[in-house]
Amino acid sequence: MIREEAIKIPFQYAAGTAGSEFLINLRDHRQLTGSRCSDCERTLAPARAYCPDCGREGLHSVNIGPGAELVSWTIVPDKGVFALVRPDGADTAMLHKLLGPIDDPQPGIRLQVVFREERSGHINDIEGFAIVQENGE
Ligand SMILES: [Zn+2]
Repeated sequence: MIREEAIKIPFQYAAGTAGSEFLINLRDHRQLTGSRCSDCERTLAPARAYCPDCGREGLHSVNIGPGAELVSWTIVPDKGVFALVRPDGADTAMLHKLLGPIDDPQPGIRLQVVFREERSGHINDIEGFAIVQENGE
């Protein structure tokens, strides 16, 4: 006999140097941090300890955002809209929530990161990314 069940195993792991810097900058400075690979000449979002393309370590931290561009999205029933967003200054996209109202999202529309008032050094210190209206709001 085979029983099919899901096992929930809570765990904690170190965010690492780059991940910690990213989270601290969210919490303390409301700032998105990326990593610049001088070999590939690409800026990765969010910050990483090494370049996934060439393996280089010792990347330089750079500020990215707060503006961003919508790359792609999906609607998750009862959860909201999740999007791949490319922060300004970055060459890669990161996953987060797209804040509404959302009538007709299109790739390339302008977004702005929205931080929570209370932050704790967690990816959810970012509330999400809001669509920037044409009049700049
Ligand atoms: Zn690289």
